[in-house]
Amino acid sequence: MNQKNPNPPYKRIATEEAWAPEEMIKLYRKEIQEKTIGDPGFQSLWGFFSGDSEKAKAHNRRIQDLDGERLRDMDDSGIDIAVLGLTSPGVQIFDPATASSLAIRFNDELAEGIARHPDRYVGLAAFSPLDPANAAKELERGVKKLGLRGGIFNSHTLGTYLDDEQYWEIFEAAEALDVPIYLHPQTPPANMIDPFLKRGLDAAVYGFACETGLHALRLVVAGLFDRFPNLQIMLGHCGEALPYWLSRIDFMHGHISVSKRYPHVHPLKRKASDYLKENFYYTSSGVGWAPPVMFIRDVIGADRMMYAMDYPWQFQPSEVGELEQMPIGEAGLKQFFEDNARKVFKIHE
Ligand code: CA
Repeated sequence: MNQKNPNPPYKRIATEEAWAPEEMIKLYRKEIQEKTIGDPGFQSLWGFFSGDSEKAKAHNRRIQDLDGERLRDMDDSGIDIAVLGLTSPGVQIFDPATASSLAIRFNDELAEGIARHPDRYVGLAAFSPLDPANAAKELERGVKKLGLRGGIFNSHTLGTYLDDEQYWEIFEAAEALDVPIYLHPQTPPANMIDPFLKRGLDAAVYGFACETGLHALRLVVAGLFDRFPNLQIMLGHCGEALPYWLSRIDFMHGHISVSKRYPHVHPLKRKASDYLKENFYYTSSGVGWAPPVMFIRDVIGADRMMYAMDYPWQFQPSEVGELEQMPIGEAGLKQFFEDNARKVFKIHE
């Protein structure tokens, strides 16, 4: 195992770190029991993680804490600053009106936690995607009033994808506010999850990446970035593998988009890969492994690839030392661990 640099000439900023208020965990437990919504992915993931196993209990303790154990874990891992976001599926499992009012309360609570440790945390605003007018309003309130640095949504909401234009005022607001939106994973929706569930592949092991990568690509081919050319979306987990697909996506989508084969597919102004290179930032959350990080620096750009741990879902302190072995020099490591995050999330020294 490679030890991390004990005294690096940069700060380490972890950019996709999960947080959950106590009230939300209680509501999750209620949904697990009552199955009012009955989403199979939610039942699988939170049925386990809100349970009584040692792993679940430790996870629940860590994900709710903002004052003690989390800061100690950050210190032990060498993380100076965490970018906090409401964990998946956030408020998106609830009906849109409930979700909108919960988002306000949870964003307030997050902002209070950040205010207790302003040199250690910044945060992202949650919102209720199926209530787009209130979502745009809450994003604006989160950024302007609470000092949050962007928005976060956990991919599909009860099976709905945001490439449908009726939801685009959320993205319009993000572009106008000049803040990124983190497209964070969630378990596949009811009509997609069956083939994953039987072998336990529905969540972070693989299902998250399939579902979230799909959502990102839907946004691209729907023409979202032709409408909002300055919009910036963030993808974790080394881009949910999309950077690996750039060449084939361009070739195939280039043909499909002019074929008139699908009524809702039209040519874009630019190649699909152009949007993935200029309208997306990428983080290493859950992938403490140099080859894909180096690959994204190569095919997307070193100024768009940054560090994240995905605490506490994948609390793996050793990955910091591993990633510091990347052959990119101190300036490259500073860019990866610090500079890109400071720029995107406006974290000033
Ligand atoms: Ca995460």
